Amino acid sequence: MNAEIIAVGSELLLGQIANTNAKFISTQLSELGINVFFHTVVGDNANRLKSAIEIAESRADLIIFSGGLGPTKDDLTKETIAAHLDLPLVFDDVALSFIEQFFAARGRGMTENNRKQALVLEGSKVLANHHGMAPGMFLEKEGRTYILLPGPPKELEPMFQFEAKPKLAALLNVGRVIQSHVLRFYGIGEAELEDRVQDILDKQTNPTVAPLASDGEVTLRITAGAQNVEEAWTLIKEKEAEILAIVGEYHYGYNDDSLASKLVEMLKHNNLTISAAESLTAGLFQSELAEIPGVGCSLIGGVVTYTPEAKIEHLGIEKSLLDQSGIVSSECAGAMASKVREKFGTDIGVGLTGAAGPDPHDGEVPGTIWLGFSIGDQVVTHKLLLQGMRNTNRIRTVKFACSYLMR
Ligand code: ATP
Ligand code: MG
Repeated sequence: MNAEIIAVGSELLLGQIANTNAKFISTQLSELGINVFFHTVVGDNANRLKSAIEIAESRADLIIFSGGLGPTKDDLTKETIAAHLDLPLVFDDVALSFIEQFFAARGRGMTENNRKQALVLEGSKVLANHHGMAPGMFLEKEGRTYILLPGPPKELEPMFQFEAKPKLAALLNVGRVIQSHVLRFYGIGEAELEDRVQDILDKQTNPTVAPLASDGEVTLRITAGAQNVEEAWTLIKEKEAEILAIVGEYHYGYNDDSLASKLVEMLKHNNLTISAAESLTAGLFQSELAEIPGVGCSLIGGVVTYTPEAKIEHLGIEKSLLDQSGIVSSECAGAMASKVREKFGTDIGVGLTGAAGPDPHDGEVPGTIWLGFSIGDQVVTHKLLLQGMRNTNRIRTVKFACSYLMR
């Protein structure tokens, strides 16, 4: 099965938003082993959309549309497809009563346009929208499959995953299931990891193993097809064991795990509290931890002390220390860590300082970072020399701090 994704929306062409829906759908399709050969973007224009559909039909047997299912005049995806396929639009009772209830519950009047959102292509299976009003559609016609999804990612993503994907999986191979599992690695570069598992990558058939790198992390996605879920997981687990036997020392988690989530898990498990004083990251470390629900038992608080004066005034670091050693220094990072730990009375204090870039800072080359960790009566510091852009360096500093604390 070869797929094309058509994202509809003039704002995509104007550069106002990025086509993250295509990225999401492509990732999901690769899990099913479906090749995506084309991403198309077309504005809110019926003629141009029609010609995009004709081109897609000449080269794909699965066409997935994103956007243009809403109530306004510029939303014309389903109308254009209906005209093109010569299919009437009919009211879907479930979607209609959902929309009616939505307006009734808010005491608001419903317009004819809102009602129109419940119109679907005749003969299509309706994909329920649990996060908005426009239903999606799954249509099989003349050997092709058309899937229509709403534009807002928070509606499209769950609809694809839970409504459309199972239908696609069923189409692909009756009784066959596809499962996938992501292994996450930190502390090893993509090239080195690939090199080490080259044999596995070369020989892969089922399961397949796909590497991906971003922001200092590398992942390997293992995808297995089998007659049932259990069989697929046996294959996945065997492959995982093979991989971890080679690069297991860098493996820290699975799927949606992050270094921050693993750190929070470790802190909770050991009943440890943490605080942070941040300079170049200006709160990013705490913000990453705060993304994890329940972190309040572990993250007590922290400060952003960006300038030398703030470090002196709000953390109580000696001016003479900064004058002597500089701001981007082991001494400063260590002092930030222990001062913040004392201030918040936590088990662990973290101090992050450095030259984020692109310019040198305090005489240090851009990308020079010092991390301080105050744990009990011990203070340890670590130097990083990063080569990224300013924000990448800030993100990598946070990741390194998380991984360091898990050692
Ligand atoms: P609505 O009912 O909100 O109008 P819709 O199905 O008609 O939904 P659009 O009007 O095309 O969808 O887009 C609604 C919003 O969804 C856009 O303003 C944008 O924020 C987001 N969106 C649309 N297409 C994409 C895309 N390809 N990638 C990421 N976000 C998108
Ligand atoms: Mg719209």
